[in-house]
Amino acid sequence: MRDFTYIGLPARVVFGSGTIARLPDEVGRLGIRRAMVLTTPHQEAEGREIAAMLGESAAHLFTGATMHTPVSVTEAALKLVRDQRIDGFVAIGGGSTTGLAKALALRTDLPQLIVPTTYAGSEMTPVVGETADGEKVTRSDPAILPETVIYDVDLTLGLPPAITGTSGVNAMAHAVEALYAQNRNPITDLMAIEALGTLYHALPVVVAAPGDKDARADALYGAWLCGICLGAVGMALHHKLCHALGGMFDLPHSELHTVILPHALAYNAPAIPEVMARLRDTFGSDDPARALYDLAGRIGAKRALAELGMPESGIDAATDRALANPYWNPRPLERAALRQLIADAYAGNPPS
Ligand code: NAD
Repeated sequence: MRDFTYIGLPARVVFGSGTIARLPDEVGRLGIRRAMVLTTPHQEAEGREIAAMLGESAAHLFTGATMHTPVSVTEAALKLVRDQRIDGFVAIGGGSTTGLAKALALRTDLPQLIVPTTYAGSEMTPVVGETADGEKVTRSDPAILPETVIYDVDLTLGLPPAITGTSGVNAMAHAVEALYAQNRNPITDLMAIEALGTLYHALPVVVAAPGDKDARADALYGAWLCGICLGAVGMALHHKLCHALGGMFDLPHSELHTVILPHALAYNAPAIPEVMARLRDTFGSDDPARALYDLAGRIGAKRALAELGMPESGIDAATDRALANPYWNPRPLERAALRQLIADAYAGNPPS
């Protein structure tokens, strides 16, 4: 047996269909009287609906959330927080919108209520990655963890199939890496296996039939569990590689995770026989890394970094970057094998 420490992060979660109706009560429960509602320009309509539901408790609608949580956007919102005497944040959207809420909470310690509409899972973690001057800095702080999360399956029905699929595999990446994390424990193992089985089966269904409510509920439930895993244990090769490649070549987040995951798992496979045995059972496949590659195909995702816009000349630089800041990984980082991994991912080859 292994000794372990498990830290459950305090978050209130409301899950179901139509649960957005509970928003006013949940906002009141947090003592918020002058909320700033946050979203992206793309989801302004949803932001307006949320603000209307809150009536006088919504003091301002801010629709400037964007990818990579730029500090300039956070500072613009922060000025409004002061001017408008905001006392809490309500965010509706994906990881980018959640990132803005977290960045604001970090600076103000005001409460956050998140309404996720993708499968990114950021709402379950005390971590935010912010960018300034082209550099992404990741911070962890208890003030960053949202107080309340409302998962409403109905709000995910309109998530376009392409984002649905890759966002779901992005979630699965959290659970895969949780299974071989240095500080893994039986509790996160339970959640990770449950989440992986659920998402593996639900994703092809929701991509083919986005309005399938039961499959959507499964996917959202799985994504929630994946988010808990991400917040509870450390990540390894897969997340570090995606962080490096995303930063170097400005590649889209969930698509990048979808390309890399089968390769990162195949790389680690020789060092994690017990995890691979569990994944074989969970996916019903002799080759779990290949099963993830095939899943990406079934959900219509791109499987080559070349298709995401990475230049071939970047393979060596990416290998250098991946080796530059050593971190824990179940299999030691070996230059030749890592370069092969990146070259295979670049070309869209099956994992080797
Ligand atoms: P995103 O939030 O950037 O959303 C992509 C686009 O889809 C946006 O325009 C958004 O408005 C739109 N969208 C979201 N939900 C929709 C819906 N239901 N219908 C239609 N459009 C919708 O993408 P994401 O993949 O959710 O989040 C990625 C970001 O989250 C990355 O920056 C990543 O670093 C971050 N993230 C952070 C953590 C963490 O713990 N800190 C965890 C996971 C992801």
